[in-house]
Amino acid sequence: MALSGVEIFKMLPKTNCKKCGHPTCLAFAMKLAQRQVSIDACPDVSEEAKKILGEAAAPPIRPIVLGVGDKAVKMGEETVLFRHDKKFLNPPAFALEIKDTETDDDISSKVSAVLDSEVERVGQKLRIDAIFVENTSKDAAKFEAVVKAISAKAPDIPLILSTTDPVAAEAGIKVVADKKPILYGANDSNAEEMANIAKKYKVTLGVYAKGLEALSALTEKIKGLGVEDMVIDSGARRAKEIIEDNTQIRRAATKKSFKPLGYPVINFMQRDNPMLEALMASLGVTKYSSIIVLSNIEKWKNLALFALRQNIYTDPQVPMQVEQKIYKIGEPKPESPLLITTNFSLTYFIVLGEVENSKVPCRLAVMDTEGLSVLTSWAAGKFTASKIAQFIKESGIENEISHRELIIPGYVAILSGSIEEKLPGWKVTVGPREANGIPVFLRSKVQ
Ligand code: SF4
Repeated sequence: MALSGVEIFKMLPKTNCKKCGHPTCLAFAMKLAQRQVSIDACPDVSEEAKKILGEAAAPPIRPIVLGVGDKAVKMGEETVLFRHDKKFLNPPAFALEIKDTETDDDISSKVSAVLDSEVERVGQKLRIDAIFVENTSKDAAKFEAVVKAISAKAPDIPLILSTTDPVAAEAGIKVVADKKPILYGANDSNAEEMANIAKKYKVTLGVYAKGLEALSALTEKIKGLGVEDMVIDSGARRAKEIIEDNTQIRRAATKKSFKPLGYPVINFMQRDNPMLEALMASLGVTKYSSIIVLSNIEKWKNLALFALRQNIYTDPQVPMQVEQKIYKIGEPKPESPLLITTNFSLTYFIVLGEVENSKVPCRLAVMDTEGLSVLTSWAAGKFTASKIAQFIKESGIENEISHRELIIPGYVAILSGSIEEKLPGWKVTVGPREANGIPVFLRSKVQ
């Protein structure tokens, strides 16, 4: 059970020595109760208290890793119901379903689509994370052959193997056991055999039962059989059921420390209509899915889901920002243009992308505005003429370039005169308001 701040406080040294970075032991205890710090931060706590507090501080949703290497996906470990309380930690994995009854060509092109799904946004690589192989044929040999073929073509892509037949399960799992797959399909009638396979090959078990009561009973039973790592499926398939069940699972695990539901959730969002499937998947992203199974991965759908997932899994209390400095784009010469923008990540990456599109080598001065965008930081007094002038002077850029021209974003054209006053000898040019105008603007400058 979770301990209260006062219960934790009683186990701390109570010397208020501040070594943990908190002014008092009580303040540290309160943070520990909210799972916002680790007990390891207090060097003086007794071993006994450390053991008790370590167990109490274990994440209410069990951490699970799917796959190995760079493309492994971590899930679970969440501690809160709402992201304004604490950042959501592990984004859900998107998995493309492939049925073992599909033709070789279809399977091959679906695997290629997964391999080609990677895009880069705001400095992060985003992709379809996994393949969900369904034993539709009910034929163990066929299932094994398809798992083998997929694994050979995409050795790094994590796999979830789905079957309720223990013979097919073992045939498929033994092929890829060293790649940390998930074996999905344990239910009340095959629990013992599937648990034995999961234990033998040391893989995570996907557990299905209709309804939360039956699901809790089943995870307890499987845990009793010696399997610790599970992902759970309450049988919810319609949007309303998914919202209700996923919310109750998250609430039970994080608010009540109810261990039988303290596992990552797998949701099946396959729909014939791609727009509906995208909507269902976005519901999973916002409402506590850890694995979202899809039937198709059209590029437009991926982009929408990747962006949503990225936004939900950022820290709402910390703006995404990049380091303040002068970035070189291409191989700029002393006479190459100099632009300035703010250090909000999205602003930076959009401007960077457009400057790269222009093929004009440039310097981009990125000023620390505490992660605010151009207009917001101007309105907040963080992107002002004096601060811009001070940044330019202190950056040392005057020693690197042969001109004195600074291109500012069109949205802050109003600053041009005052920057020139604060930066004697400099000419300020107003650039485009929107980043997509940058390529034409830059090309016209260097012609
Ligand atoms: S380091 Fe430990 S003893 Fe010192 S203030 Fe923090 S909790 Fe208290």
